[in-house]
Amino acid sequence: MKEYDIVIIGSGPGGYVAAIRAAQLKMRVLVVEKEELGGICLNWGCIPTKALLKSSETLYHLKKAHFSGIIAKDISFDLQKIVQQSRNAATQLNRGVSSLLKKNNIEVIFGHATIKTKHELHVLGNDKKEHNIKTKNIIIATGASPRQLPNIPIDGRIVWSYREAMIPKILPQSLLVIGSGAIGMEFANFYSVLGAKVTIVEKMPRIMQTEDHDIAKLMHQAMEELGVCIKTSATIDKFEIRNEKAYTVITSNGESEEILFDNIISAAGVVPNIKDIGLENLGLLLSENDKIIVNNQMRTSIDNVYAIGDVNNNPYMLAHKASHEGIISIEAICNKNPHGLDYNAIPSCIYTTPQIASIGYTEEAARQLKYKIAISKFPFTGNGKAVATRTTNGLVKIITNIDTGEVLGAHMIGDNVSEIICCFGILKASEGTVDEILSTIFPHPTISEVIHEAALGIYDRTIHL
Ligand SMILES: Cc1cc2nc3c(=O)[nH]c(=O)nc-3n(C[C@H](O)[C@H](O)[C@H](O)COP(=O)(O)OP(=O)(O)OC[C@H]3O[C@@H](n4cnc5c(N)ncnc54)[C@H](O)[C@@H]3O)c2cc1C
Repeated sequence: MKEYDIVIIGSGPGGYVAAIRAAQLKMRVLVVEKEELGGICLNWGCIPTKALLKSSETLYHLKKAHFSGIIAKDISFDLQKIVQQSRNAATQLNRGVSSLLKKNNIEVIFGHATIKTKHELHVLGNDKKEHNIKTKNIIIATGASPRQLPNIPIDGRIVWSYREAMIPKILPQSLLVIGSGAIGMEFANFYSVLGAKVTIVEKMPRIMQTEDHDIAKLMHQAMEELGVCIKTSATIDKFEIRNEKAYTVITSNGESEEILFDNIISAAGVVPNIKDIGLENLGLLLSENDKIIVNNQMRTSIDNVYAIGDVNNNPYMLAHKASHEGIISIEAICNKNPHGLDYNAIPSCIYTTPQIASIGYTEEAARQLKYKIAISKFPFTGNGKAVATRTTNGLVKIITNIDTGEVLGAHMIGDNVSEIICCFGILKASEGTVDEILSTIFPHPTISEVIHEAALGIYDRTIHL
């Protein structure tokens, strides 16, 4: 029986990054992956969606090119080429992970791993070969799968999960998106720019419940300007397939309507992959929503078993969170006593047009936690670069602790804001305050200057407003 220091189940951004760190620390490491290297993120998540959104964003700007003095006539698109370039991006990065693992001499078995005991695993290879494996430590990095709504099952034909939504054969004329989280909003944006009549159904009173309300309000407006119909406080009271279309009765704010859709994207969240991996053989502690409970070093209730990424009970289901947790788990195994993650310092981004980027507490959360807060907002209309590039549809909002100057939360909507939210991440990691932003010199003209202006606003010192 082959023996390793660490066996990692799953090669997403949690698993493969953990494997590379383990190799750097001279561990004998094995990765078991039942599908594609890179996990959901590289193959069916972060990367292919951003490639799709680049195409729709380009189309969006082409349609508005006359504002720049550009005459773009007869603009059209080839849906299959849009899908193909997105698949190409995923393939390229999947190969990249493969060569990174090779370069670090990391063994990979393609197959389904099941934990037998805290030191033994069984792998049924995709080539049907069986492997019995011994290990000192196990890292569970099995990720998550789309949540199935009981009354609207994903059939891959009319009702899509994110996987089918990423590889459409034809453009639906009418599309229902269930859920207004990041995944739902990105697909709604992509399909509406391409010309589908998109309806979003959200059961809560407003879209994007986890975002600050000011930012969600501006996104609501931006999506409506694109022609997206948003139904909040909404329920789907009836659903059936009629003549290859989805027949629905939707009630929103007390009013019911019968609507037919070509397709539905079910984007009502994801659930952790804890089935068929042998957790019953370990008796690991799970949270109420079936996530694996871990401590701040990603250790589960069994001392040599760790869980990282989407499958554990820590906040956020994001690729960069998974990768950081992967590194922490390896350094914990190697007795390096790593710092736990500050989950309040994890940025999250939505890559719609305009984009959203946020970090830390929303205004609502900061108030609930009874912080004494100061709030400053700066609209992109006051930013020279935004005016010059016609990207004034944006806002930055900063929430600080009045007593300490700590930035409790920063929230942005606007062009490419995902590229500048890291300013606040560095500030948090270095335990800086809003005063450090004041004394930072931002290049002119850049959109990033909105951060400086918002920080000045905390002291009523904004210049360009
Ligand atoms: C449409 C979409 C868009 C997204 N966009 C973003 C984004 O822009 N930014 C962002 O940060 N996050 C995004 N996410 C979320 C991100 O993809 C996840 O947070 C991230 O992939 C989690 O990483 P992970 O390593 O925990 O698991 P995963 O990436 O899910 O990888 C888990 C791997 O484990 C394998 N596996 C499972 N069980 C077994 C088993 N028994 N044996 C062997 N292998 C197994 C799976 O095949 C899979 O490859 C998006 C997700 C989706 C669906």
